[in-house]
Amino acid sequence: MKPDLFQAPDYYNLDDLLTEENKMVRDAAREWVKRDVSPIIEQAAQDAKFPKSIIKGLAEIGAFGPYIPEEYGGAGLDQISYGLIMQEIERGDSGVRSTASVQSSLVMYPIYKYGNEEQRKKYLPKLASGEFMGCFGLTEPDHGSNPGGMVTNFKDKGDHYLLNGAKLWISNSPFADIAVVWAKNEEGRIHGLIVERGMEGFSTPETHNKWSLRASATGELIFDNVKIPKENLLPNKSGLGAPLGCLDSARFGIAWGAIGAAMDCYDTALRYSKERMQFGKPIAGFQLQQKKLAEMITEITKAQLLAWRLGVLRNEGKATSAQISMAKRNNVDMALHIAREARQVLGAMGITGDYSIMRHMMNLESVITYEGTHDIHLLITGMDITGISAFN
Ligand SMILES: Cc1cc2nc3c(=O)[nH]c(=O)nc-3n(C[C@H](O)[C@H](O)[C@H](O)COP(=O)(O)OP(=O)(O)OC[C@H]3O[C@@H](n4cnc5c(N)ncnc54)[C@H](O)[C@@H]3O)c2cc1C
Repeated sequence: MKPDLFQAPDYYNLDDLLTEENKMVRDAAREWVKRDVSPIIEQAAQDAKFPKSIIKGLAEIGAFGPYIPEEYGGAGLDQISYGLIMQEIERGDSGVRSTASVQSSLVMYPIYKYGNEEQRKKYLPKLASGEFMGCFGLTEPDHGSNPGGMVTNFKDKGDHYLLNGAKLWISNSPFADIAVVWAKNEEGRIHGLIVERGMEGFSTPETHNKWSLRASATGELIFDNVKIPKENLLPNKSGLGAPLGCLDSARFGIAWGAIGAAMDCYDTALRYSKERMQFGKPIAGFQLQQKKLAEMITEITKAQLLAWRLGVLRNEGKATSAQISMAKRNNVDMALHIAREARQVLGAMGITGDYSIMRHMMNLESVITYEGTHDIHLLITGMDITGISAFN
């Protein structure tokens, strides 16, 4: 892997829209990624191993619960700072950002929002410091885009619940200390349960052979008559809206994160194109390469504006789920397209691990699928503007 020479593009002076705190948080995350992620990430991805050594650093830059109040160990930041942290982490690697997203939006957020005070105090500070790592179990082998069809279920056994079922494609599952699991009760209503590693009948086999998000551990959650203490049920929200509320928060982070991956690809391609000589001049001097680079910076700038505006709406408590869907869909698609174009700018070198582009490209193939696929987010926009669902 080449030394990390990343310089963040800011074509429209978007820094002028950020607060001093936003910039401070962003710069600290950027510096940490350069120092602690870039030197090890290529090897971690080649080895298909989540680099646990970075957990402490993630906690220190506020990546675990950026917007969770400080009294519970979170960083107490606004939504734009949260987005910027995700952008910087994903500039390093989407797999590392996935770990942070899951911990913050899919584990800490539901415990904070839907949990009681005891649950908040018991779990949030440990999750914020990285002492506990969490995962989020919604997807099942037969229920991906349609999680409402889930079959994982729990029965009331008087002094405890009995949980049965299985979840698939769960980020962080192989090493998570706790899992926030969505399951149906006897009336078919969806609830969130906190399942702890070590509970009898609970196992988390790892999913191997991924070409994407290789530096992020993915696995299953299997529940075979797992006894869950009653105090582990999240009491303050039930129904499909509960997990979907968490996904809103995670998708918002992804809309920002994807910009980071795109910026890294663009910056790498721009630098390479100025150095690589063919036909007696730098390839940056050829119109076709300039077209690629000019379109990249245009799309990045549009995505930055979209994410920033969505952050303002989130700060004001006004962002709708459909607005978040639009940003997630647009920005991930933008990043994937830029990764493919940037890879071509590097010619054969673009396929090697000496540069980050191919890793970003492969990672983004997961990012465009998880947290609602590209198609599903389009259907959400379609439903929002027409008032008619085209899901079924
Ligand atoms: C690396 C990785 C990590 C993940 N981490 C997690 C996690 O931590 N927790 C978790 O719960 N899940 C996780 N997921 C699962 C992810 O959210 C699902 O993969 C995603 O929701 C899509 O489900 P599916 O793969 O079953 O695809 P399917 O739902 O089977 O969809 C297949 C195709 O059909 C399309 N399709 C489906 N329904 C419709 C429709 N009504 N109209 C038109 N087209 C449709 C889809 O867009 C897609 O192109 C992860 C996935 C990956 C790849």
